[in-house]
Amino acid sequence: MSESLSPEQIVEAFTAAFGQAPDGVWSAPGRVNLIGEHTDYNEGFVLPFAIDRTAGVAIGLRQDSTARLLSSYGDQGVVTVDMDSLSHDTMSGWTAYPLGVVWVLGQMGVSVGGFDLFLHSTVPSGAGLSSSAAIECAVASAFNELAAAGLSSKELVLVGQRAENEVVGAPTGILDQSASLLSTQGHAVFLDCRTQTSRPVPLDLAADGLLVLVVDTKVTHAHATGGYAARRASCELGAQVLGVAALRDVTAADLGEAAGLLDPETFRRVRHIVTENQRVLDTVAVLDDAGPGAIGALLTASHASMRDDFEISCPELDLAVDTALAHGALGARMTGGGFGGSAIALIRAASEAAVRTAVLAAFADAGFTTPDIFAVSPAPGARRLQ
Ligand code: ADP
Ligand code: MG
Repeated sequence: MSESLSPEQIVEAFTAAFGQAPDGVWSAPGRVNLIGEHTDYNEGFVLPFAIDRTAGVAIGLRQDSTARLLSSYGDQGVVTVDMDSLSHDTMSGWTAYPLGVVWVLGQMGVSVGGFDLFLHSTVPSGAGLSSSAAIECAVASAFNELAAAGLSSKELVLVGQRAENEVVGAPTGILDQSASLLSTQGHAVFLDCRTQTSRPVPLDLAADGLLVLVVDTKVTHAHATGGYAARRASCELGAQVLGVAALRDVTAADLGEAAGLLDPETFRRVRHIVTENQRVLDTVAVLDDAGPGAIGALLTASHASMRDDFEISCPELDLAVDTALAHGALGARMTGGGFGGSAIALIRAASEAAVRTAVLAAFADAGFTTPDIFAVSPAPGARRLQ
C-alpha cells in the first residue's frame, strides 16, 4: 500500500513525468461497507462509509488527441493511447478505469480530447475497499470540472458504475461509487438501492473513542467470481419462486412460508438477504439514536449470516472476526463480496494494539499469510485538492 502524498507532491510527480504542471488535482476515497452485503443487487439497503484512503489524480488537458496515463503503483510506466480511436481493446489493465470513465462521458456527449493523467492511490488494490471506484470517482470528478459537464454527484455515480460495468466488465452496483462521491465527513451513506436515494447517517467514531480496524487477509480465491455469480443466481431464483420483483420485497415474517417453497440452500441465501436488509435498517436506527458504540452485535450477526447462510466467508475471514471479538472488539464482520478480501472490527481505539497483535499471532499460528491490518476512519467524499 502506498504512502500518502500531499497535493503538492502529486503535482511534482505529474510535472516530472509530463514536463508541465497539471490543470488540477482531485481525490476520491475508497470505502468500507459497514453493513449490508449482497443486498445491493437485491434492491435492498447498504451502509458504506468513505475512508481516509484515497485515489489522487492530477490531470492536464492537451491540445491533441493523445492521452498519457501513469500510476505510481506498479512498474508499467506511461501508457499512451489515441483518444480518437478509443475502443474496448485499447482500454485494458488499470487504464480501463480512468479511460472507461472518459469513454462513458463521451457516450453522454461530454468530449474530453487528449490529456495527461498521474494517479497515486493509497487505497489497497483488491482488498475489498474499492480501489477501483476511487479511481473512477476521482477521474469522473476531474473531467466533470475540466469539461464543464455540470453533472451532479448522483450522475457521476452512474458514470463510474457504467465504466466498471461496460468497460472493465465487472457487474457491480452503485454502492462503491455512491460511497466515494456522496460521503460527508463523520457520516456513513445509507443507500436504498431500489430508489437510488441516500442520506447521511452520523458515524463519528473518534468522538466515541472508537475506530474500525481493517484486516486485509490478502486472500483472493479463484472461485470468487463464480461464487458471486452463483449467489446472484440463487437470489434471482428465490425472488422468482416467491413471486417478488426482488428479495427486497421479502420480510422476516415471510420466511416461515418461504422455507416451505424453497430448496434448503436457496432458502438460506434468501434468509441472509432478508435478515441483512433488516440489520442495515436496525444499524441506521441505532446510529441515529445511540451512536456507533451500540452497533457491534448487528455487525457480528451480519458475519454469522454470511458465514452460515450465504456461505461467502473463508477460514481467514472467520479467524480475523473471531480473534478480534475475543480481544474486545464490539463487533466484527467480513466486508465486501466475500471468499477473501477484508474483515472489519469495530474496536475501542485504546485496544488497537492488543487486537492487532492477537490477529497477527492467530494468523501465524494457523499458518495463514500475514494480513495487513490498519485503522480507517470516516472521511469526506470526492473533492478537488488543488
Ligand atoms: P477493489 O476495487 O476491491 O480494490 P478491483 O479488482 O475492483 O478491487 O480493482 C482493483 C484494480 O484497480 C487493480 O487490478 C488495478 O487495475 C486498479 N488499481 C487499483 N489501484 C491502482 C493503482 N494505484 N494504480 C493503478 N491501478 C490501480
Ligand atoms: Mg472494485
